[in-house]
Amino acid sequence: MAPSERLEITMKTEELAANLRGDLLTPDSAEYDTTRAVYNAMIDKKPSAIAMCVDAADIQTCVNFARDHNLPLAIRSGGHNAGGLGSVDGGLVIDMSKMRGIRVDPKAKTVRIQPGCRWGDVDHAAHPYGLAVPAGMISTTGCGGLTLGGGVGYLTRKFGLTIDNLLEADVVLADGSMVVAGPDENADLFWALRGGGGNFGVVTSFLFRGNPVHRIFGGPTLWELDRTKEIMKWYREFILQAPEELSGFFAFLTVPPGPPFPEHLHLHKMCGVVWCYSGNLEKAEELFAPIRELEPDLYGVQEMPFPMLNSAFDALYPPGHQWYWRADFFTEISDASIAEHVKWGAALPTTLSTMHLYPIDGAAHRVGAEDTAWSYREANWAGVIVGVDPDPANAGKLRDWAVGYHDAVHPHSSGGAYINFMMEEGQERIQASYRGNYDRLAEIKAKYDPNNFFKVNQNIRPKS
Ligand SMILES: Cc1cc2nc3c(=O)[nH]c(=O)nc-3n(C[C@H](O)[C@H](O)[C@H](O)COP(=O)(O)OP(=O)(O)OC[C@H]3O[C@@H](n4cnc5c(N)ncnc54)[C@H](O)[C@@H]3O)c2cc1C
Repeated sequence: MAPSERLEITMKTEELAANLRGDLLTPDSAEYDTTRAVYNAMIDKKPSAIAMCVDAADIQTCVNFARDHNLPLAIRSGGHNAGGLGSVDGGLVIDMSKMRGIRVDPKAKTVRIQPGCRWGDVDHAAHPYGLAVPAGMISTTGCGGLTLGGGVGYLTRKFGLTIDNLLEADVVLADGSMVVAGPDENADLFWALRGGGGNFGVVTSFLFRGNPVHRIFGGPTLWELDRTKEIMKWYREFILQAPEELSGFFAFLTVPPGPPFPEHLHLHKMCGVVWCYSGNLEKAEELFAPIRELEPDLYGVQEMPFPMLNSAFDALYPPGHQWYWRADFFTEISDASIAEHVKWGAALPTTLSTMHLYPIDGAAHRVGAEDTAWSYREANWAGVIVGVDPDPANAGKLRDWAVGYHDAVHPHSSGGAYINFMMEEGQERIQASYRGNYDRLAEIKAKYDPNNFFKVNQNIRPKS
């Protein structure tokens, strides 16, 4: 960078810093490198500045500043995005990690959260009231990105996607104004926020419905890989007929080499299902009887508080690993696709690499394909293939496996993918994931962000 350019940026950021309550980090700040790092260490972006926003006014200030100075802007909640869309080279990052307040209203059964919350924060606050908001499998994931992309998790079959539980949002728009989006106010914006990602503004507050979930019966059941074909064929029938209180995602994984896993299974590649039953616990044993009959090599299912299951994989997947992602929706798990799963599941390239099929039927199917931006309401599974490893030297191996596996199963998929399981894969792939809803999203984008100011995301281009 030329010295004159650097001087200009320094002057600009001093002006911004003076108008913020939160700190503004620049490449000279001691915390710059640790703060700019996102969850996926394969991504290494270097923003010009990171604003550690503490309130909605800070966020408005950043939006106005970036727009007026023509700076690229990234919005970061938990920083988990696969493609590193929570950061941007040479631009400004709105970091909301200091904004993690939550208010549970036990009477109205609602949960209002600030945009920097992680799902572990929400579980922690809502659990004492016997409430839960449907979200993901890892409690360190940010609520902002996960919600706006859709939100798939253990409670989807019973209570729907995370967006199906969103009641209202406060949003800072591209022009710096603040609006409320809900069913009766800016309803078009509310429609677009539910699945359209960070394309329409910065959400500074989310209001969710809290659902009655407290203690659950859950955990993994695992089988040796030579039973993959049999288990997948059984699973595809069983889960779609199971009561909606029961969810279970199919997985290939490598058993971690330590407790609580039995020593004889350590480092075994296995297939299995991770279960969550949130119904009447007295019925749990009966419900799990057919699963026991399949004689899993590991039966790790037990009663526990819901937040315990939701954070069970956190330690296995700390920030800072290399991650390479590919994804698809599936309406069926065909025999032909099972043949590919058998082959690619056996070839997991590292001990942390995995493939998951998350069931998204039940309550998620009762919302129409055009009722929110999430178009694939008929799909039964959101599939994700992730190559994961701490060692950057293995990045190529992770990518080759994920891409090869995806190429093999994609022809058996529904066509598009859950945008939150995608890296930056281009416009065609984004449009395939919104299908018929893309046009309406582009129209709403043109109304709220006509210059495509919010473009560090799975971008929806404003309709011209
Ligand atoms: C280990 C791991 C496990 C996961 N498990 C699940 C799962 O079980 N279920 C599931 O559905 N997804 C899951 N995901 C995917 C996850 O939903 C996405 O990675 C999501 O983008 C993460 O959200 P974030 O806020 O942490 O991301 P960030 O990187 O902080 O943000 C990503 C993007 O979201 C947008 N954004 C974030 N906050 C706001 C806001 N307040 N206003 C406007 N735009 C905003 C921006 O466009 C931003 O670029 C998982 C991801 C990881 C890494």
